[in-house]
Amino acid sequence: MSALSKTPKIVLTGDRPTGPLHLGHYVGSLKNRLRLQDTHRQYVLVADVQALTDNADAPNRIARNVVEVALDYLAVGIDPAKTTICVQSCLPALAELTMLYLNYVSVARLERNPTVKEEIRQRGFERDVPAGFACYPAAQAADITAFRATLVPVGEDQLPMIEQTNEIVRRINRLAATDVLVEAMALVPPIGRLPGTDGRAKMSKSLGNAISFSATADEIRAAVRRMYTDPNHLRACDPGMVEGNVVFTYLDAFDDDSDGLAELKAAYCRGGVGDAAVKRRLADILEAFIAPIRARRRHLANDRSYVYEVLRAGTEAADMVTAATLGTVKAGLGLFSLQPIAGCRVA
Ligand code: ATP
Ligand code: MG
Repeated sequence: MSALSKTPKIVLTGDRPTGPLHLGHYVGSLKNRLRLQDTHRQYVLVADVQALTDNADAPNRIARNVVEVALDYLAVGIDPAKTTICVQSCLPALAELTMLYLNYVSVARLERNPTVKEEIRQRGFERDVPAGFACYPAAQAADITAFRATLVPVGEDQLPMIEQTNEIVRRINRLAATDVLVEAMALVPPIGRLPGTDGRAKMSKSLGNAISFSATADEIRAAVRRMYTDPNHLRACDPGMVEGNVVFTYLDAFDDDSDGLAELKAAYCRGGVGDAAVKRRLADILEAFIAPIRARRRHLANDRSYVYEVLRAGTEAADMVTAATLGTVKAGLGLFSLQPIAGCRVA
């Protein structure tokens, strides 16, 4: 029996409300969340405090997007009866744990995190990194551990965060001389990083290269039409490359007809299949995938009070769980407590 099967199966993931969720979220994380909500205790966190770390001047936009992200969850099929959906800024224990954890990670270690390094470069923060941004891996450690998560379904970019989380967990457990926190394991799907429609390594809200769940049929077609294929595949009769060809990566992720796709790949490699035909197939598949999500989303958007209720109830439940973990960590570390100690009288 593995260590994991002995511990309760608790799942935590989250998304930053920096914009609408997109196909990268589905491939990297949401698809697994839909599966895990039937078998695990699952929490999903709308990470609005983390979104502020690189959007400090736009708190109102972040606040508006909290509801938009919740709408995306519900439209995709995250079921509030099975998954607790909660809001980071309304969970004070997460902020307290972050402050504690910052003492158990060095600045040098934070600077070495390869995902943070890459994001600093992308955002042009090299000369002036917001302190909150540099420290966000500690905040993510707080999120994961506060829920006592053992499994974190994420895209590949999040692997360094889980590694850093577990380093903090081990350090605190060593100090407490008992397992006050549990280590977490990342669950990364076979396509761990969906590339952007512009061919860049990752589809991302902040890079403007995403297809969102609310994209219209025309927007989907236009985005697919602009995608890069094999630069040497100039005419339909030329042999083409499938590896590194973004259109085929998307087909790998969304085309359920694996035999048909294998035939298409073979024909493309031999020569005789035009890019336009492959793109038409992809656009049709993506539209068929997104259309029902888009429709559900539009319907749900008419009932915002329902969405607020889902967030309120989920956050209330999460508050209890996270506050309990904070109490355990403080006690484990032996921090001062105002609870009277038996036999000790204050004059
Ligand atoms: P931002 O640009 O604001 O950072 P994002 O598009 O990177 O937004 P996040 O909210 O940071 O999205 O990521 C939430 C989750 O979705 C993470 O688990 C991340 O790994 C996953 N994810 C996001 N984009 C992709 C992608 N292109 N491929 C695979 N997984 C992804
Ligand atoms: Mg991100």
